[in-house]
Amino acid sequence: MVYIIAFIVIGLAGYLILRRKNRPEVSIQPQQYKALLETNVAYYRKLDATGKVRFEKLVDTFLNGINIEGVGTEVSDTDRVLIASSAVVPIFGFPNWKYKNLTNVILYPDTFDQEFQFEGENRSILGMVGSGYMNGQMLLSRAALTKGFSANAGMENTAIHEFVHLLDKSDGATDGIPENLMAHEYAAPWLHMMHVEMHRIAEGKSDINPYALTNEAEFLAVASEYFFEKPDQLQHKHPEIYAQLSLIFGQNPVS
Ligand SMILES: [Zn+2]
Repeated sequence: MVYIIAFIVIGLAGYLILRRKNRPEVSIQPQQYKALLETNVAYYRKLDATGKVRFEKLVDTFLNGINIEGVGTEVSDTDRVLIASSAVVPIFGFPNWKYKNLTNVILYPDTFDQEFQFEGENRSILGMVGSGYMNGQMLLSRAALTKGFSANAGMENTAIHEFVHLLDKSDGATDGIPENLMAHEYAAPWLHMMHVEMHRIAEGKSDINPYALTNEAEFLAVASEYFFEKPDQLQHKHPEIYAQLSLIFGQNPVS
């Protein structure tokens, strides 16, 4: 979805600014995080007591540093906690990680199109990371956000997908090789592994979402959704990819 950005023009940005005017910030209290995380975030439920406290603190840090706004919708406390959780899950192996390339998350009620219209035809986009004029902005569909954390999410989680793009982008290139998270010597083998699996997907021999064929950046984001949503299945069906993602994210969600 990174290529969508080319379509951004000043008029559309003006539209966004108009729609975003002065929505009051809902201040959610840290003691509320725990209940919302327990109810909505399976990843959090699986953590031990120490891990839960660390997760809550990272959620708190995220919500205090990033502005979350709704376009055509009110942002609920649950939305805030789900967005923060999507940011925390991929960096949970890196306690000191800060999303330096993000200032705003803009929540749409449902899918939106390339001109950020959330009504009308061609509303196919579930999330995107802005660049150029939109640098520092992430756009998300609430429907996709909510579905990603529901019991029937399968191997998909749109918000985690977008935060993985941000991690990938943090080294200056959204190219499927998150150089800030992986040692240099792993880059070439990972690239090879991605290309091998992309061939398998193209031949209908893989259960990885074919959207991963778009390019290496999308492969990383799609495989990462799988890694965090269905780690046991990924490890069973794609042990090499699981092992590589485990290295990249500094996590072993199966154990
Ligand atoms: Zn993507």
